[in-house]
Amino acid sequence: MENGGAKKECAFEKENGCGGGGGGVMKKKWCFKANESISSASGITIRGTLAMLMGSRNLNDSRETIPLGHGDPSAFPCFKASLVAEDAIVESLRSAKFNSYSPSVGIQPARSAVAQYLSRDLTYKLSAQDVFLTVGCIQSIEVVVSVLARPGANILLPRPGFPIYESRANFSHLEIRHFDLLPESGWEVDIDQIKVLADENTVAIVMINPGNPCGNVLSYQHMKKIAETAKKLGILIISDEVYGHLTFGDKKFIPMGVFGSIAPVLTVGSISKKWIVPGWRLGWIAVNDPNGFLKEAKIVEGIIGYMNISTDPATFIQAAVPRILEDTTEEFFKNTISILRESAEICYDEINEINCIYCPHKPDGSMFVMVKIDTSLLEDIIDDIDFCTKLAKEENVIVLPGIAVGLKNWLRITFAIESPRLQDALRRMKAFCDRHAKQL
Ligand SMILES: *Cc1c(COP(=O)(O)O)cnc(C)c1O
Repeated sequence: MENGGAKKECAFEKENGCGGGGGGVMKKKWCFKANESISSASGITIRGTLAMLMGSRNLNDSRETIPLGHGDPSAFPCFKASLVAEDAIVESLRSAKFNSYSPSVGIQPARSAVAQYLSRDLTYKLSAQDVFLTVGCIQSIEVVVSVLARPGANILLPRPGFPIYESRANFSHLEIRHFDLLPESGWEVDIDQIKVLADENTVAIVMINPGNPCGNVLSYQHMKKIAETAKKLGILIISDEVYGHLTFGDKKFIPMGVFGSIAPVLTVGSISKKWIVPGWRLGWIAVNDPNGFLKEAKIVEGIIGYMNISTDPATFIQAAVPRILEDTTEEFFKNTISILRESAEICYDEINEINCIYCPHKPDGSMFVMVKIDTSLLEDIIDDIDFCTKLAKEENVIVLPGIAVGLKNWLRITFAIESPRLQDALRRMKAFCDRHAKQL
């Protein structure tokens, strides 16, 4: 032993007098204690909130529970994974060639396939070296936030947003500054606010496009403005494109990487949403930076370093990626998009028939819509959590309170569900609102 076997005394023991002392009468005290950053980082989570709502249901209600709070439609038969993707996995598994560990950045053919897939929409080509494979987009977020979290730094996050960014930033002690997405202008970014929020310690701005939770799709002009603002501020853009190409409105999806020569972009994505296989846990980070600024700043080195001390997606899943990306039929995507388009329309139309709640913007992409509650018109409902808890209890419908994505007195509704069930849920919501409306 290095210290010659002397009794080890930890700092915690000194402070708290743990370790049990002599005598043997005292109760044994242990030196371990959980890292407090974990509970403070978690805060309100989507999963925790949905579990609370499920617990609020009236179990004597014989009607089925209709879940409109989730972000995973794979459980519904109409959102089944494609046969091509399933076959690719079977083939990769059966080949017995992918039972080994993978390199920490991912296997070459899969990195190359993702690079080619993303390059289809760019004016320059990504190479396999620009792509890092992750355990879903969630791990991409973990890697990127961890690499950027140097002491004193801050990051700009959208409000409403996707709470994993807040949790990860908090856990890494990266200061958060929120900018607003504006409902009255189609959930566009408040660019003037960004200029006020940013300072010399701001490292990045996060964009989610197509949007979760707003269902918006950004226009070319607006994205260009964001890129130019980022350049002016000297910050990079983290573009969450996990819903890339899941658009059904007038606006076409444009990847932020298109503006990579204006300001460097780290694109995060995965096969979870577009291929409807979130449980397969395969995502990526793509470095869209033709000028090489991220390499110069050792951000790329940081990503590689972080991935060296982290885990990798299963090798046989990685090996299936080239076939999944190249061979999935257009038919499969068209089917998903047409279901989402129909559901989005039903959702928007029906919600605006309901008094007390209001939808300012019809979704153009992703699978969510934000709906505002007018609590002044409701008799006995104080806020969004109260609304959702009573809705679960009285109508067996689960909807996410806006506070879980940063906007109090709003709701986030998922419309990725079969339309008959969506219509049933909306009828129940209407009955609920009518019942709780103030009698004027
Ligand atoms: C679902 C989702 C993710 C996580 O994707 P996974 O690939 O399942 O880890 C990341 N960002 C947003 C905005 C999402 O909605």
